[in-house]
Amino acid sequence: MAQTGGIELANLTKRFGDTLAIDSVSMTVPPGTYCCLLGPSGCGKTTLLRMIAGHDEPTAGDVRIDGQSVLGLPPAERGTAMMFQSYALFPHLTCLDNVAFNLKVRGVAKAARRKQAHEMLDRVQMDGFADRVPAELSGGQQQRIALARSLITNPKVLLLDEPLSALDEFLRLQMRGNLRQMQNEFGITFVHVTHTQMEAIAVADLVVVMDHGQIDQADRARAVYDTPRTTYVARFIGGQNVLSGKVVAVENGAAILDDARGNRFTVPTGDTAPGTGETRYLSIRRDRIEMEKLADPSAARDGTVNSVVGKVWMTEYQGTWVKVNITLPDGEEFVANIDDGRFFANPVHEGDMVLARWPAESVHPLEHRESSFDTSRGGMHT
Ligand code: ATP
Repeated sequence: MAQTGGIELANLTKRFGDTLAIDSVSMTVPPGTYCCLLGPSGCGKTTLLRMIAGHDEPTAGDVRIDGQSVLGLPPAERGTAMMFQSYALFPHLTCLDNVAFNLKVRGVAKAARRKQAHEMLDRVQMDGFADRVPAELSGGQQQRIALARSLITNPKVLLLDEPLSALDEFLRLQMRGNLRQMQNEFGITFVHVTHTQMEAIAVADLVVVMDHGQIDQADRARAVYDTPRTTYVARFIGGQNVLSGKVVAVENGAAILDDARGNRFTVPTGDTAPGTGETRYLSIRRDRIEMEKLADPSAARDGTVNSVVGKVWMTEYQGTWVKVNITLPDGEEFVANIDDGRFFANPVHEGDMVLARWPAESVHPLEHRESSFDTSRGGMHT
C-alpha cells in the first residue's frame, strides 16, 4: 500500500497583528516521515503546526496533504490528529473510554467503538490497562494512551506539540524512543515540535531548523549536525566551533583566512572563489580538535595553520570524552571535546595555555546568518 501523509507547505505566511510569525515558508515532508520542527522560543514552530492541524488559518499560502489543499477544512477532515504536551487525557474516563472518545464524537456505535479501542490499546501494548483511569498510570503509560487516542481516527499525519517536555530526563529519553517506534509501526507522518536539539536529531528523519518564522535548514539529522548550512544552525545545533576571517589568498580550492587574533585558517571555497578581503565563515566539530599544552606560552606561535591559542578555563568530564573550554585572547569561547583516553594520557588544567588545531579536511564552510539567538541559552553541549 502506498504511504500517505505527505505534507506540502507553499509560501505559508501567518501574521498576528504586526507580528510576522511565519514568513513565506515552503517545504515538503514526504509521506511516512518523522519530521521535527526545531528552533528557539518564538521562532514560529507551534504556529506552523497549528496551521497544518487546522487550528489556525494562514494569512497567505497553502497547506496540502497528499496533494490536496486542506485550507478551510476542520481538523477532523484533514486527516490530521494532534497530541498535546500534557496529553489532555480525561481524568474521570477509563483508558478504554479515553481512546474511544474521538469515535464517540464521530457517532460510532458503542459496541464498534469499544472493539476498535481495544484493538488500538492492544497495538500500543496497553490492553491490560483498559479499565484504569489516567491517575493510575505512569507517565509513559499515559503517553501510550494519548497516542492511542490520537491514532484511533486513522490520521495520515500526527502532530505532536512538545510531547516530551513535561517529563523528567529519564522518562523523556525512554519516551522519545517509544514515539519513534510507534511512528515506525504505524507508518504515518509525524510532525513533532521541540526546542531540544538532541531530541530532534535523535528521533527525526527530517529536522527543520527555524528562526524568526523562516526555515534555515531542512535536512536529515546527520546533515544538520555535521554540515550545518549557516552560522545560525551551527551555533543553535551546537557541537561546533564557529570561526571567521578575511580572505588573504585562494589556493587549490581553499581560501586562506586571517582572523583578528592573528590566526590563519583554511576553508574550502566550493564553486565560487571569494575575493581578497571578503569575510568567510567556517565550523569545526568540537570532537575533531587536537589539543596540546604550550610549554612556553610566551614563545611565538610557529604559524600552525588551522589552529587557535587560548587559555583553558574549565574542563568537564563527560564519561567518554572531556569537554575543554578555552578562552581566546578576545574573550571568545572555543571548545574541544577530547576522547577520555587521549585527554588523561596528556591532561590539561584550568589556567593552562593550549594550542588547539584541526585537520583542513574537518573544516566546513558556512553562510553567515545573523540571528537574535543567544548561544549561551542553547546548543548541545557535546
Ligand atoms: P515556543 O517554543 O516558545 O512555544 P514557538 O516557536 O512555538 O515558541 P510560536 O508560538 O509559533 O513560537 O510564536 C511565533 C510568534 O508569533 C511569536 O512572536 C508569538 O509571540 C507570536 N504569536 C503566536 N501566537 C500568537 C497569537 N495568538 N497572537 C499574537 N501573537 C502570537
